[in-house]
Amino acid sequence: MTDGLVPLIAGNWKMNGLRRDLDELRAIARAAGAGAGPRPEILICPPATLLMAAAEICADSPVRLGGQDCHSEANGMHTGDLSAEMLADAGAAYVILGHSERRAEHGETSETVRIKAHAALRAGLTPIICVGETRAERDAGEASSLVAAQLKASIPPHPGPALVVAYEPVWAIGTGHTPTPTEVAEMHAFIRAELAADLGDRAARVRLLYGGSVRPENVTEWAAIDNVNGVLVGGASLKSADFMQIVSAFE
Ligand code: PEP
Repeated sequence: MTDGLVPLIAGNWKMNGLRRDLDELRAIARAAGAGAGPRPEILICPPATLLMAAAEICADSPVRLGGQDCHSEANGMHTGDLSAEMLADAGAAYVILGHSERRAEHGETSETVRIKAHAALRAGLTPIICVGETRAERDAGEASSLVAAQLKASIPPHPGPALVVAYEPVWAIGTGHTPTPTEVAEMHAFIRAELAADLGDRAARVRLLYGGSVRPENVTEWAAIDNVNGVLVGGASLKSADFMQIVSAFE
């Protein structure tokens, strides 16, 4: 549920998408521009190779764009990396940080994520900080303590109201397995309380996204939950029809 916040529906294309796939983004931009009612905020995070072309496509639409990672420095000798400033220059307004795939495949720690979040804020980007437990951690009853530790270490001290947090249980990403609505409700209430302890009143303005096998068939379950202010969508964001059905659930 939106809790007075504009919901954010974010698509993470991961390492998917060639120029021809921008037709899906064109369709999303067209659909997002149609209709008169209040719409959730729509965000697509394509691979960086498509960002500038995506920015042209979305120039006259409400669709926002984001990166999937950034370096902590603004520029320098970091072959293959992209800075937050470069993403902003290419048309991004957001950047996903600490996705579990980056934590697992690139050894990113929560401390790395905090430094990158600071860089994102420096460049005027809104960081979407991902947290979430593995299946083994949930089975061991450690989900809350793990997420609390990730939040504490990943969020910079003065993030401002622009911060977004995505709760993504690692075992739900791309698997078709999802937590129960009760488990998501409990974790989101817990995250809100943890943020309030650190950020005070500002915590109420932080949007909390659920991510992990969100599909058109299950999105209404997540949209109805308190403290779920949107979703982070991987696979189902690659097809405009699926993605826009997910958007509709938050209208
Ligand atoms: C993700 O990439 O963050 C994600 C949640 O993927 P999927 O929706 O495919 O599970």
